[in-house]
Amino acid sequence: MAEQKLKLYNTLTREKEEFEPIAPPFAGMYVCGPTVYGEPHLGHARSAIVFDLLYRYLRHSGYKVRYVRNITDVGHLENDADQGEDKIAKKARLEQVEPMEVAQEYTNSYHAAMHKLNNLPPSVEPRASGHIIEQQELIKAIIEKGFAYEVNGSVYFDVEKYHQKNNYGKLSGRVLEDLLSNTRQLAGQQEKKSNIDFALWKKAAPEHIMHWPSAWSEGFPGWHLECSAMSAKYLGTEFDIHGGGMDLLFPHHECEIAQNTATNGGAGAKYWIHHNMVTIGGQKMGKSLGNFITLREFFSGNHKMLTQSYSPMTIRFFMLQAHYRSTIDFTNEALQASEKGLTRLFEGIASLDKISPQGQQDVLSDEWEQKCYQAMDDDLNAAVLISHLFELIRLINQAKNNKIAFSKKDLQNAGHIMHTFAFQVLGLRPENETANTELTENLIDFLLKLRLDAKTQKNYATADSIRDYMAEMGIEVKDTRDGFEWKLV
Ligand code: ZN
Repeated sequence: MAEQKLKLYNTLTREKEEFEPIAPPFAGMYVCGPTVYGEPHLGHARSAIVFDLLYRYLRHSGYKVRYVRNITDVGHLENDADQGEDKIAKKARLEQVEPMEVAQEYTNSYHAAMHKLNNLPPSVEPRASGHIIEQQELIKAIIEKGFAYEVNGSVYFDVEKYHQKNNYGKLSGRVLEDLLSNTRQLAGQQEKKSNIDFALWKKAAPEHIMHWPSAWSEGFPGWHLECSAMSAKYLGTEFDIHGGGMDLLFPHHECEIAQNTATNGGAGAKYWIHHNMVTIGGQKMGKSLGNFITLREFFSGNHKMLTQSYSPMTIRFFMLQAHYRSTIDFTNEALQASEKGLTRLFEGIASLDKISPQGQQDVLSDEWEQKCYQAMDDDLNAAVLISHLFELIRLINQAKNNKIAFSKKDLQNAGHIMHTFAFQVLGLRPENETANTELTENLIDFLLKLRLDAKTQKNYATADSIRDYMAEMGIEVKDTRDGFEWKLV
């Protein structure tokens, strides 16, 4: 492994810290994933791209990374509150479908969009609804430690008791006394000892459709609980990185830290990484403001605020041009500038193949690669990295136009830097490659559909010959209980 100098801004300590994992070369990373009740939008894209950048860079640096990103399919109530309807159940009620159909539909949309944006899939993608037992065990542990109480079948975390010996607010910088005086008691919350206590388990109201049996009531887990339970299950009670958007800092991550500390004495993760938010035309994105644009609409251009469609790589590149702790404002002009820049980058890279080496004198020093690493090591400064890549593109274009001479070594160096940083680290992918990948996937799906039709019609000879042909082409098909899976071998 190369000598590590990666520094990351840790929200918990409010400092840029050198990244030293607990048990190198292993690095564990937990990222709060989507609540799957609507089409994925720019906020989803930013979170996934930021942590994909970190995941890719850690892997590039030689770490064995276990990247866990959850799917919230239960327990996230409206307005991130303890009271009100579950976001997924509400959608299910409006669409008259089973809640898990809603969760599945939007999980599928999310996966498809993340794949288009060339985000690598996480190593583990646990669902909250699949970890009810783990969450119940965690509640029992918190009750045993004396930091939670039961009222009428619901269980709440006792924030003030916790704060006597710990610091509730250590992550977000909020002060308990202020929170106490500023948090209003909402209707239906009379059960809580204090306004700032939060739900670990909620007894389900008769109209609430998602519920499970428990020691306390037929009910469902509180939203903050799932991430404590699932990060502990897949990464241990002490792990390296916990990530999410700044909107999750409080109360979600603050509550996670309280739950973790109450049970194990530690915050859970060593480094807490938060990315900033996305605005559209200078405004916060919101359905009521009419500026809520889904990724699908960006890709198709089918929204009144968009003057054209924007490819997934344009969106990715645009996001990477800002530091992850800065806000990003989406406008048509800014996206068009990114689109042009990306084309220039790819054209420059492609022209490397057409330049013939001249002379023995090297133009590019080894410092080029170092500069790129320095940018990434400085809290993942992709914006600075991209500016270095553009400086290099300028030189490549000069070499192409015979203004300067690139030696054989210069050509190799330039190719190596572009391959490493543009493709591996930033995860950019030429658009025609994206199109080819999609075409291949669609054709494979089509073949599999033909095979399934043949099987349904008991035409096993045809079904088998399709499978055999696909095997010859290097496509391995595996039958599963729910259908089939395929992979290229
Ligand atoms: Zn979370």
